[in-house]
Amino acid sequence: MTRAVVVGGGGTGDAAAFALRKRGFEGEIAIISADEDRPYDRPYLSKEFLRGEVDLPKVFLHDDADYSKERIELRLGQRVTGGSLSERKLKLSGGDEVAFDVLVLGLGGTPRRLPDIPEAGNVFTLRSLRDSQSIRDALGRASRVMLVGAGFIGAEVAASARKLGRDVLIVEALPVPLQRALGQEVGEIYARIHRDRGVDLRTGAKIERWHTDGDRVVGVTLSDGSRHEVDLALIAVGIEPNLDLPKTLGLPIDGGGVRVDEGLRAAEDVYVGGDIALHKHPVLGRSIRVEHWEVAKGQGRGIAASIVGGHVPYTKLPYFWSDQYDVSLEYRGHASGDDAAVWRGNREALNFSVFYLRDGIVEGVLSMNDAKTNELGGKLIESRRPFDTAALQGADLAELVGSPAP
Ligand SMILES: Cc1cc2nc3c(=O)[nH]c(=O)nc-3n(C[C@H](O)[C@H](O)[C@H](O)COP(=O)(O)OP(=O)(O)OC[C@H]3O[C@@H](n4cnc5c(N)ncnc54)[C@H](O)[C@@H]3O)c2cc1C
Repeated sequence: MTRAVVVGGGGTGDAAAFALRKRGFEGEIAIISADEDRPYDRPYLSKEFLRGEVDLPKVFLHDDADYSKERIELRLGQRVTGGSLSERKLKLSGGDEVAFDVLVLGLGGTPRRLPDIPEAGNVFTLRSLRDSQSIRDALGRASRVMLVGAGFIGAEVAASARKLGRDVLIVEALPVPLQRALGQEVGEIYARIHRDRGVDLRTGAKIERWHTDGDRVVGVTLSDGSRHEVDLALIAVGIEPNLDLPKTLGLPIDGGGVRVDEGLRAAEDVYVGGDIALHKHPVLGRSIRVEHWEVAKGQGRGIAASIVGGHVPYTKLPYFWSDQYDVSLEYRGHASGDDAAVWRGNREALNFSVFYLRDGIVEGVLSMNDAKTNELGGKLIESRRPFDTAALQGADLAELVGSPAP
């Protein structure tokens, strides 16, 4: 009987295991995860769970009983450290060996640390449920919260901490928040959103000195000379994709990830998805690596389709969202900083969309509080038709979507 081993109990791994069963895979399925907890909804960890609006067990993706019902063996708190693809076996940190016929890797990433940060009981990073639980507990005792880094995690935790009434300081080295992900202009809008809601946002800033008292950080001095008292600090400066195991197994590494083909396959009977996958996207026509939840879950399901169906291209467009305060961002596709931008809607009212085009072809659509446009934008991306930028600005999008190609 075929045995599928899924390494990583996150978005990719959990989705792959359940989708395999749903698609009629009859062999054994095991999820081996370094995490001590059964798979959970990671996006909750910077938002509803952190704020105490959602509690266990609601953050778990499935009930315990679902795993036994679907005959999915769950091995938690176990790390895969190596193995051999030719011998089809994996090695666990405790010394055990596990055989597989089909291997799925969804290993996610590890939060980056910065040099010169003191080891202190009130300095955190955020990736796991237990990280979020610790920060949530510490937030209960803190009144001054500092975020180092204004990417999605930093910005979302800032919004959560403000919602809980804490004083919030963000220290960001770049000129605007979310610059790498969303560019300068949208970043400026986010800077305004955070400042309007009372965040002390310091951009183009660095920490010059950490002030400690025993094992606690009590403050920082920034590069502009200002001093700030701090009860809780979160370092949120991105992740390093977990590539040690794929490297040990000899899988192809490229562009910060594991190179996979259109059907998410990295080698014969080895499939990789989520944050660590550099996927040759069949619709976009290039390889992309995306660190977002719906992509991880979608690729997990795509892997199952490929295993059961025999190399099925995964065609879904990347999609992500971010909720900060009352502002909901959605993004479909995958644009780059060089693409032309066409804005529609009202920036001041935080109700707009931006279409990103390359040679007239829509590559990505970003929407703020504008879900309908985002959905239609996805169809324009999928069409791969060139559009006139001026026409796109004023056009009825539903009509444009339905119109025949020129
Ligand atoms: C706090 C937070 C909030 C987020 N919010 C959003 C959001 O609002 N929208 C959005 O689109 N995205 C969001 N994301 C990003 C999203 O959660 C990730 O992109 C997604 O979880 C990636 O899925 P994955 O399967 O690649 O990895 P993960 O979900 O990280 O799962 C990886 C799993 O692999 C295990 N593992 C790693 N190495 C080994 C090993 N050697 N052996 C065994 N197990 C191993 C880990 O323990 C973990 O269980 C958020 C992320 C975080 C941390």
